[in-house]
Amino acid sequence: MQQLTRSFSLMFNYLSRLNRIMLGSLAIFTLIIAIWKNSIYFPLFGRLNTTIVSPEKRKFIDQPIDTTGHSSQFSKENEKDIEKNNSNIKIHETSNTNKYVIFSGDTISKILSQHNVPIADIKVLSREHADLQNIKVGQSLSWKMTVNGNLQYLIWNVSQREIRTYNRIYGKFQENITYIKGKWCNTTLTGYLNGTFINSAQTAGLSYSDTYAVISALQWQIDFKKLHKGDKFSVLIAREMLNGKSARTQLLAVYLHTAGKDYYAFLADNGKFYNRDAKGVTQSFMRLPTLKQFRISSTFNPKRLNPITGRITTHLGVDFAVPVGTPILAVSDGEVIISKYDDIAGNYIAIRHGHQYMTRYMHLHKLLVKPGQKVKLGERIALSGNTGRSTGPHLHYEVWLNQRPINPLTATLPRNESLTGHDRSEYLNKIKTIIPQLHS
Ligand SMILES: [Zn+2]
Repeated sequence: MQQLTRSFSLMFNYLSRLNRIMLGSLAIFTLIIAIWKNSIYFPLFGRLNTTIVSPEKRKFIDQPIDTTGHSSQFSKENEKDIEKNNSNIKIHETSNTNKYVIFSGDTISKILSQHNVPIADIKVLSREHADLQNIKVGQSLSWKMTVNGNLQYLIWNVSQREIRTYNRIYGKFQENITYIKGKWCNTTLTGYLNGTFINSAQTAGLSYSDTYAVISALQWQIDFKKLHKGDKFSVLIAREMLNGKSARTQLLAVYLHTAGKDYYAFLADNGKFYNRDAKGVTQSFMRLPTLKQFRISSTFNPKRLNPITGRITTHLGVDFAVPVGTPILAVSDGEVIISKYDDIAGNYIAIRHGHQYMTRYMHLHKLLVKPGQKVKLGERIALSGNTGRSTGPHLHYEVWLNQRPINPLTATLPRNESLTGHDRSEYLNKIKTIIPQLHS
């Protein structure tokens, strides 16, 4: 029990560093139960939903997502795999198995030598399986000795999804990697807007990450701040169940009805979302806010050395040597959030694009748009100038993604692409079966 408590706190540290978004206690309990179950039931593979992968075929076997809602087929196939593979496993259940939870500063050699595993065995293991040097705090090891005092096998619980075993065969250790796969099943969740979308989504049973996936998928079509009370939404989510808990989810489709219109986004096989007509749901960006490229007078540099003051100052955008009066264009569809004079930025404009992007344009001569105004890609928003803190005519241009400035010249910017040909017809066939699930 003490060990369980110890592993509990270690797991928590390990997880919170690794992935802050994971829901703390639920995930930790799942993990502990998984490790506890693995160490107890490991010799009886049938208790776990596992597939054994030989070292030659080491790759992650991902279970296909079943978009029709029938998951039973997969579980039957899994069972067959388990039976087939179990015959290859020759580990017998014992009562004197050693178990160990990895602490900070541990190495595989240190742990095993402290537990009287012969140095010769440790050397063979380390030489043949260099990966064992990568053990991490919170993972667990278990092993068994032969009657002659040699190492019979070692089990490394890498994660909730991965177990590695090292079986002694003729003085060497053969590695087997076991990937634990959950069962995927689909769920439709429906809700009505009451308050913010995030709150309404959570009331309908969506997790934070599911909610964020919905906002990302529809952000270019819908302004989530301008929804109305009672707007209906529906999502189709694939859930992976692992050890009786929901391990991860994938948004497959979303429907939202607002202001008399229906909006859809469906996940295609390429991992991107498209609408009901197989058109991309993202909005394209132009690389530059001008018709032609001007000389760059200062590059993007989060830590720039100011040549005048000698200090390191940040430069969150790119400066272009643009003559006064040059038309400045919106780089994508969006809504003007700021259009005003500022002592430093001069006349400047900020535009919000979707939920994640913002662009800013500074030192302008004349502002041609007002806050709240919707703009289209390529639309003229200002004439460039030399206003505010500026030593010569130029345009200072910034792109922000998720509240962080990114390099406007090199960042990957959203591009709207539609499905074509065979991909398109396959997609349209698939969504025919999904749409009724969103409205059920
Ligand atoms: Zn600048």
